[in-house]
Amino acid sequence: MKKVILFLLLSIILSGNSYAITWVKLNESSNSKLMLDKQSVLQQDAFKKAWVKVEYRTPQKNLETVGTEYTLSKLLWFFDCATQKSATSQVFQYLGNELVYSAGVDPKNAEFIEPVPESDVDIAMRYVCRANKPASAPIESKTVAEKAGTPVAKPEKSENEKAETKAKTVAEKPEPAANPVAAIAAQPDKQGAAKAEANKTHWTYEGKQGPDNWAKLSPEFAICETGRNQSPINIENTMRASLKPLKGIQKFPAKDIVNNGHTVQVNFKQGNMLVLDSAPYQMKQVHFHAPSENTINGKSFPLEAHFVHADAKGNLTVIGVMFKEGEASPGLEKLWAQLPDKEGTPVPLKSRVIPSELIPENRAYYRFSGSLTTPPCSEGVRWLLMKTPMTASKAQIEAFERAVKHHNNRPVQALNGRVIVE
Ligand SMILES: [Zn+2]
Repeated sequence: MKKVILFLLLSIILSGNSYAITWVKLNESSNSKLMLDKQSVLQQDAFKKAWVKVEYRTPQKNLETVGTEYTLSKLLWFFDCATQKSATSQVFQYLGNELVYSAGVDPKNAEFIEPVPESDVDIAMRYVCRANKPASAPIESKTVAEKAGTPVAKPEKSENEKAETKAKTVAEKPEPAANPVAAIAAQPDKQGAAKAEANKTHWTYEGKQGPDNWAKLSPEFAICETGRNQSPINIENTMRASLKPLKGIQKFPAKDIVNNGHTVQVNFKQGNMLVLDSAPYQMKQVHFHAPSENTINGKSFPLEAHFVHADAKGNLTVIGVMFKEGEASPGLEKLWAQLPDKEGTPVPLKSRVIPSELIPENRAYYRFSGSLTTPPCSEGVRWLLMKTPMTASKAQIEAFERAVKHHNNRPVQALNGRVIVE
């Protein structure tokens, strides 16, 4: 029952606009059924777009993430009717009613390809691009969940995400159109790369370009000074609330590791996600700060990990994990085997490290709203700081400090009336 409610809430939150969904059946094979929401067909710029769903009789394997199976896909497809090409912009996969995978790409960055003849995409394109003709396919009855609205995400990337993922690799080649999920996952982050070019204002953690002067370095950094919800903060005077247990997927391995001059960052493959406020956030990367940026009752920790998550609209959620000095962390041991000691480009990881190796089993957390802790200091970031610290050995902490060559913690910022709940 809980899952059904979550699904309903997800649908409502993601839809933004509620309308009567009208599924028309476009294709049915021995194993799958393709349905298109007639009401979702819209013109956007040069393209037409439509939500479709594909129901499978037997569980399908998600090719991006080992071990994930799904029986229902909801997809936002874009069609270029003029050139007869299409692209997938959003994918949500469900096993029963449970959302098990999501991925998205801005249609501006998506690669439009000619669909395989008579494939589901091809059939949907013919339907959508058939100008002004009424639908002749039979209309199916709606389920309760569907009445709540299908996910209509508005794909766009925020400045925040671009800033946080600017070091992301763009090396993968797009895969064949037959697998829309793979096609999305393989999209080069063109916007991110462009942003990285435009955002070369040099900043540091000390001296003239240090935190006190970040706002003066670029108009884009103004909020570092004027913002009222800046991170990091000191956790104190918390309010007790019945926070929901963290729900998500943390089993897909890290992809590569990079020293970007400010921190060491580990980028994740697609598939890890967090469900917060009934919306899915994908885990993008984890990076580290030494000493910790946030403090708990005035106490600083020698190391803090930030797991950066983004939803389809580019809204960010960061999970913070403190490390205290103690036993060596097996997860860090594997990552640090390839710890880059100089600024450079991402290096593929040789060993398998999954997020749950770096996140405490005890999922109690503090929650507050804040910002990026690095320029441009963008606000509107949801922060979840795990209460239980992990441990890292003295050698592991020192290895990180040597690699980054300087402290990389922004000082704690004023709360300005913000409430921290636990
Ligand atoms: Zn950080």
